[in-house]
Amino acid sequence: PFVITDACIDVKDRGCLDACPVDCIYEGGRTLYIHPDECIDCGLCETVCPVAAIHADDRLPEELTMWVEVNRAYFGPEVTGLGSPRGADAKTTRAVDHPVVAAW
Ligand code: SF4
Repeated sequence: PFVITDACIDVKDRGCLDACPVDCIYEGGRTLYIHPDECIDCGLCETVCPVAAIHADDRLPEELTMWVEVNRAYFGPEVTGLGSPRGADAKTTRAVDHPVVAAW
Protein backbone atom coordinates (compact mmCIF):
# COMPACT_ATOMS: atom_id res chain seq x y z
CA PRO A 1 0.00 0.00 0.00
CA PHE A 2 0.87 3.65 -0.11
CA VAL A 3 1.81 5.43 3.11
CA ILE A 4 1.35 8.99 4.34
CA THR A 5 4.40 10.37 6.14
CA ASP A 6 5.37 13.29 8.36
CA ALA A 7 5.17 15.95 5.64
CA CYS A 8 1.36 15.79 5.88
CA ILE A 9 1.24 16.72 9.55
CA ASP A 10 -0.56 20.06 10.03
CA VAL A 11 -0.85 20.41 6.24
CA LYS A 12 -3.68 18.03 5.30
CA ASP A 13 -4.11 19.40 1.79
CA ARG A 14 -6.79 16.73 1.23
CA GLY A 15 -6.23 16.61 -2.53
CA CYS A 16 -5.54 12.91 -2.12
CA LEU A 17 -9.02 12.37 -0.69
CA ASP A 18 -10.54 13.42 -3.99
CA ALA A 19 -7.97 11.52 -6.02
CA CYS A 20 -8.33 8.16 -4.30
CA PRO A 21 -10.70 5.94 -6.31
CA VAL A 22 -11.50 3.66 -3.38
CA ASP A 23 -11.84 6.25 -0.59
CA CYS A 24 -9.23 4.57 1.56
CA ILE A 25 -7.67 7.78 2.91
CA TYR A 26 -8.97 8.91 6.28
CA GLU A 27 -8.67 12.15 8.19
CA GLY A 28 -7.21 12.23 11.66
CA GLY A 29 -6.60 15.29 13.79
CA ARG A 30 -3.28 16.50 12.35
CA THR A 31 -2.68 14.24 9.40
CA LEU A 32 -4.32 11.84 6.97
CA TYR A 33 -3.90 8.07 7.01
CA ILE A 34 -4.14 5.41 4.31
CA HIS A 35 -5.95 2.19 5.19
CA PRO A 36 -3.37 -0.44 4.21
CA ASP A 37 -5.89 -3.17 3.43
CA GLU A 38 -8.10 -0.98 1.27
CA CYS A 39 -5.39 0.73 -0.81
CA ILE A 40 -5.18 -0.72 -4.34
CA ASP A 41 -1.74 0.75 -5.10
CA CYS A 42 -2.94 2.95 -7.95
CA GLY A 43 -0.52 5.75 -7.02
CA LEU A 44 -2.89 8.63 -7.78
CA CYS A 45 -2.60 10.14 -4.32
CA GLU A 46 1.16 10.42 -4.64
CA THR A 47 0.82 12.45 -7.82
CA VAL A 48 -1.47 15.09 -6.29
CA CYS A 49 0.15 15.58 -2.88
CA PRO A 50 1.66 19.10 -2.84
CA VAL A 51 4.16 18.25 -0.12
CA ALA A 52 5.24 14.80 -1.39
CA ALA A 53 4.08 13.15 1.82
CA ILE A 54 2.86 9.96 0.13
CA HIS A 55 5.06 7.07 -0.94
CA ALA A 56 4.68 3.42 -1.84
CA ASP A 57 5.64 1.38 1.20
CA ASP A 58 8.26 -0.53 -0.78
CA ARG A 59 9.91 2.67 -1.98
CA LEU A 60 10.14 4.48 1.34
CA PRO A 61 13.45 6.08 2.30
CA GLU A 62 14.92 4.41 5.39
CA GLU A 63 14.06 7.34 7.67
CA LEU A 64 10.39 7.08 6.75
CA THR A 65 9.79 3.35 7.20
CA MET A 66 8.21 3.91 10.63
CA TRP A 67 5.22 5.49 8.86
CA VAL A 68 4.09 2.11 7.57
CA GLU A 69 3.22 1.14 11.12
CA VAL A 70 1.78 4.58 11.96
CA ASN A 71 -0.69 4.38 9.08
CA ARG A 72 -1.65 0.80 9.94
CA ALA A 73 -1.89 1.26 13.70
CA TYR A 74 -4.19 4.27 13.36
CA PHE A 75 -6.97 1.93 12.30
CA GLY A 76 -6.59 -0.20 15.39
CA PRO A 77 -6.61 -3.92 16.08
CA GLU A 78 -9.34 -4.58 13.53
CA VAL A 79 -6.65 -3.91 10.95
CA THR A 80 -3.53 -5.08 12.71
CA GLY A 81 -5.13 -8.27 13.99
CA LEU A 82 -6.13 -11.31 12.02
CA GLY A 83 -9.03 -11.15 9.61
CA SER A 84 -9.31 -7.40 9.23
CA PRO A 85 -12.78 -6.38 8.08
CA ARG A 86 -13.24 -4.55 4.82
CA GLY A 87 -15.87 -2.14 3.68
CA ALA A 88 -18.28 -0.49 6.08
CA ASP A 89 -16.91 -2.23 9.15
CA ALA A 90 -13.48 -0.79 8.53
CA LYS A 91 -14.67 2.79 7.98
CA THR A 92 -13.89 3.71 11.55
CA THR A 93 -11.88 6.89 11.80
CA ARG A 94 -10.63 8.64 14.86
CA ALA A 95 -10.06 12.31 15.51
CA VAL A 96 -7.38 11.09 17.89
CA ASP A 97 -4.10 10.71 16.03
CA HIS A 98 -1.59 7.92 16.31
CA PRO A 99 0.65 8.76 19.33
CA VAL A 100 3.63 9.41 17.04
CA VAL A 101 1.65 12.06 15.18
CA ALA A 102 0.11 13.54 18.32
CA ALA A 103 3.58 14.07 19.78
CA TRP A 104 5.09 15.42 16.55
FE1 SF4 B 1 -5.96 5.52 -2.75
FE2 SF4 B 1 -4.54 4.78 -4.89
FE3 SF4 B 1 -3.40 6.30 -3.00
FE4 SF4 B 1 -3.95 3.74 -2.47
S1 SF4 B 1 -2.47 4.51 -3.98
S2 SF4 B 1 -4.37 5.51 -1.13
S3 SF4 B 1 -5.85 3.47 -3.65
S4 SF4 B 1 -5.11 6.91 -4.33
